[in-house]
Amino acid sequence: WTQQLEKIAPGHFVLPKTKTMRVEAHLFLSDKLLWGEGPESPGLEEAVFNQVVNAASFPGVTRVAVTPDCHVGYGVPIGTVVETEGVLLPTAAGYDIGCGMVQLQTTLTAEDVADPARRRQWIDEVTRRIAVGVGASRVQKQRRIDARTFAEVVRHGAQALGRHASATERDFLPVEDDRVDIPTRAYEKREQLGSLGGGNHFTEMQVDESGRVWVMLHTGSRGFGWNIAKHFFVEGAAALGLGKHSEDFIWLDADSRLGREYWNLHNMAANFAVANRLLIGEAVCGALEDVFGGTASIYYEISHNLIQKESGRFVARKGATRAFPGGHPALTGTPWAKSGHPILIPGSMETGSAILFAEKGASQSIYSVNHGAGRRLSRGEARRVLDQDETDLRMMEADILLNTRTTPLDESGPCYKNLDDVLNTVEMAGLATVARRLKPVACIKG
Ligand code: 5GP
Ligand code: MN
Ligand code: MN
Repeated sequence: WTQQLEKIAPGHFVLPKTKTMRVEAHLFLSDKLLWGEGPESPGLEEAVFNQVVNAASFPGVTRVAVTPDCHVGYGVPIGTVVETEGVLLPTAAGYDIGCGMVQLQTTLTAEDVADPARRRQWIDEVTRRIAVGVGASRVQKQRRIDARTFAEVVRHGAQALGRHASATERDFLPVEDDRVDIPTRAYEKREQLGSLGGGNHFTEMQVDESGRVWVMLHTGSRGFGWNIAKHFFVEGAAALGLGKHSEDFIWLDADSRLGREYWNLHNMAANFAVANRLLIGEAVCGALEDVFGGTASIYYEISHNLIQKESGRFVARKGATRAFPGGHPALTGTPWAKSGHPILIPGSMETGSAILFAEKGASQSIYSVNHGAGRRLSRGEARRVLDQDETDLRMMEADILLNTRTTPLDESGPCYKNLDDVLNTVEMAGLATVARRLKPVACIKG
């Protein structure tokens, strides 16, 4: 595939249409990210290209874009944007429907949080208030959420909690048909609302270049969304007559019964994810104010695994962040109408993160940019090749506190691509500009 790539502008390659592809694919990559440079940057795996071809081969596909943090996922790569007409692609939303970020702003400065004992106290206070880890649910920490409140949350997301679109990507995603049944396995996970989850979901205290303190939060729709996604992978494969393990090729006619059910339930999962982030975000604000004083509030909330209707088409972002620049009609009436909305980009708990704003050029990438630095080492590989003592020492010297006794090797800095490489590519291609770089000072991992 690499031989067929055409470089059309700095940081912008096109993979021309071949036999099965319905459209060409636009890849936003630097030469370094594409071809590799030294042992630290191995370049893009061949398997990514096979998955890009798969993404461009679905019925109804009108455009495909690939972000610089891309890597292999199920069916289509993490870091892919697929625009479709009349077709829904569960594999282009993935398992963690609605996964995304919240950024909290505070009135605190680096000096206020310099004392490691106080930061440790904040970590303890957050883990006292919210459930952390795989399978953990909110009931362990807080009151049960009654059935009526839950029904409101999945239908009206942030709005059900009395929150509004000034600080969130949207009030809620429309659930057009209230009669669609929530699969039992998903409904059973409703108590996970208000819980962080495991893996690379996190709550992280950060300091920007000017010494201001922020908190970044990453979580999604937990077991609720996962079981909804799973349901449609199974049903979708059956409807298309595909065998097991063929999730990669599932597509749904948006007007079919299954397609309409997916759209409703996908949106319920997304509403759940937004509410989940807001609940956790507010608990984290409370913990900050109690431990450090000052005030903390939600700066912005945005998803990076989601299908949205944009200009009449479906835009599926899988491990990609929406990037509307100033002047985009969807932002009219929001505080971001002039500047564009903030783009929240986590890097790693060791190397730092960033906040970006889109440029007009983002139209080339279906108004999308990367959602992180992107995985470089698999979890297994990380545990094999990285040294525990060396990693712990590095974290100690950098004064980054963790909620775990030792650093999780499979989440340490070297597991992810170099965030600078990824951000430089986005800027070089004219998609967005970095406004702030953020350094971690304390990280709570799920
Ligand atoms: P994903 O949504 O694909 O699971 O992860 C998004 C991105 O989050 C990853 O590509 C990685 O760059 C970033 N990330 C993972 N763990 C952490 C963390 O603990 N802290 C920060 N700041 N970023 C992280
Ligand atoms: Mn997730
Ligand atoms: Mn995520």
